[in-house]
Formats: sequence, structure tokens, C-alpha cells
Amino acid sequence: MYFSDVIGQDEIKARLIRSVKQGRVPHAQLLTGPEGVGKLGLALAYAQYICCENRSESDSCGICPSCLKYQKLEHPDLHFVFPVIKPAGRTSVICDDFIGDFRRMILGNRYFGLNDWLAFIGGDAKQGLIYANESEEILRKLSLKTYESDYKVMIIWLPEKMNIACANKLLKILEEPPEKTLFLLVSNAPDEIIATILSRTQQIKVSALIPAQLSQALLRDEELKLSESEANFVARIARGSYLNAVRIAKENDENKINFDRFVQLMRLAWQVGNRKDHAALKTLRRWSEDLAASPGGREGQKNFLAYSQRMIRENFVLRFAESEINYMAGNESDFAQRFSPFIHERNVEELMNEFDLAERHIEQNVSGKMVFFDLALKTIMLLKK
Ligand SMILES: [Zn+2]
Repeated sequence: MYFSDVIGQDEIKARLIRSVKQGRVPHAQLLTGPEGVGKLGLALAYAQYICCENRSESDSCGICPSCLKYQKLEHPDLHFVFPVIKPAGRTSVICDDFIGDFRRMILGNRYFGLNDWLAFIGGDAKQGLIYANESEEILRKLSLKTYESDYKVMIIWLPEKMNIACANKLLKILEEPPEKTLFLLVSNAPDEIIATILSRTQQIKVSALIPAQLSQALLRDEELKLSESEANFVARIARGSYLNAVRIAKENDENKINFDRFVQLMRLAWQVGNRKDHAALKTLRRWSEDLAASPGGREGQKNFLAYSQRMIRENFVLRFAESEINYMAGNESDFAQRFSPFIHERNVEELMNEFDLAERHIEQNVSGKMVFFDLALKTIMLLKK
């Protein structure tokens, strides 16, 4: 991993590079911050940079023997500790049982979270631990002589998931560190790490990314195929996490469907209410039947209702809000220019209540056809107010 593979975080990159240049690399460092801001990538790029035989001012060379092995995450002096799941029927498990998967995970996804990793190895969110017997593995690996580089590097991803007995053994090692050994701990939840370990590490706080960095990175991702306005929108609501941003971008397709449904409902309801358009009423019935039979099932229907509440809220606040607190995508924003005058003090609360009630009815397995047609009729009345 190169520093240039990590989005933003220029200050931290500079700080890490400076520590190498000045020959002052602390033996135990802890990168903390929200999930999806690049902490593991920074740790990997830093380790590669430290061991690079021909590093430049700003990054590792990528072609020396050390870099070549680092790029495949197969350097003999690079060790990983990370949460794993215990397969059924096994009495013990160590990280090396999953090391091939872990390498594939990192090489295939520059950014991933604990849930992504656990799903990758067939577990779920509740599982995922660094088990007690991992401490013997850590000791064994550290007692090996370094093969090729000056530094032995141990990257501990999510030490908060470490069994307490294992954590205590790790603490002993951190108190009396072996020569030329570098520990890089990467944590989403430093408050869940035992305090004695915290006090033995030098903390590096990795902060959330700014929207401009996120949207540029999203646009570079060819798989996502986002337009500029979509990337900007996703970047604004991703709370500084690239991982969140990618998740939202992937949900974006569902959003487009929800948007079309919402626009259709509002147009038809307005036509029936204000133009006495009977054909529109028929179409509205079909609209509710289509939604009730949609392939996304009840989950998809609930998502639509939640989406609609967000749209109603955003359209209501549009008149008071500065543009930067308007969380609407391009197509939503265009529609809102025309639609927002219809959402006002006299109907906003009731509209929100009706959509919320519909959501609860869907949750309680009331017939979708009934719920949605009823909702459509209420919407006709409320838009007339
Ligand atoms: Zn190199």
C-alpha cells in the first residue's frame, strides 16, 4: 500500500514520514478514528515506507524487493493480528488460519469495515474476536529473527476485539519491547482498549474526511459510475467516512427508484385533488398496487416510506434553510424547486404522521395494497390544504 492509495489525511502522512526521516519511529503507535477514514491503509503504507529500500520524499518506491513483498502483504517481517471467527467444531483458532483471506480482503478493498471482513469469512457482526491463544502466536512471531528488513512490523487491527488474557500478554510485550519491532494498532473504539495498553502507545487521531476529498475519490471509483452531483451529494451525507460513502452510493440505485415513486405519488395526488382528474385516481390505485407487489418486499416498502419522510422534511425546511444544510441529491433538488411550496405549516406534520403510520402498518404486516392506497388518499387531501 502506498500513502497515495489513502484518501486525504495529508497531515498524518507528513507526520509519519517525518518520523522515519528523523529516525524517531515510536515502537508502539495506535491509529484511532471512525471506521472508513483510512487508518489501516495508513498503517500499511507507513510500514511499507519504513521498510522500503529506496523511499522518496513522500512515498515508498514500489519496486524494491521489500516493496514488492509488501505490495502482496507477504513480507516475512510483516505480521497481522485481527478479529477472526471460530469455525464450528474447532476448539481454537488463530489469525494465521485466515491470513490468506485477510490478504485478499485488503488487496481487493482499500477500505473495509469489521462487518465486511466478518461477512467475507462467513461470520456475522456479533462474532469476531482476537482469541486468547493468539498471544502465543504473537510471542512466537516476535521471537523470530528478522528475515530481510531492519524492522519487524506487527499490525494489530481492532485491538478492542482482543480477549483480555491476550491483551494482558500483549501489554507485557509493549512494556519490554523487543528490539526493532514496531507495533501499529488500528482501532475504531480506543475507549474499549485496556487503559494500560493505551498508555503504552503513542496515539495518532485520524479524523473524518472532508466532503471534497470524498467526492473526488468517489468520482475516481469506476465501479460506482456516479455523476458529479451524485458524488457531491453522497460525500455530503457520508459523515467523513469513505466506507459510508461507498455504501450510500450503492444504495443510490434504490434511492432513484424511491425518488421516482415519490414524485409519481405527489403529482398524481395533486392532479386528483386540484384537477378532479379521474384517470389520475386510477393511476394512483395502480401505483399503490405496484408498490405493494414490489420485489423489495416489506423492507423495500419501509425504505420507501422512510425516504418519503425525508423528502417531505427536506422540502419543508427548504424555505428556511441555507443551501449547505439541504441534504438533497441533484434530481431531488430540481424537483423540490417546484414541489416545496406545496409542503407548508398546514400540512407538514400530518403528512409526516401519515407516512410514519403507514411505515408502522407495513411493519405489522397490514396489507400493502390497503396501506398504500389509503396513504395516497390522505396525500390528496393534505396537498389540497
Ligand atoms: Zn521500496
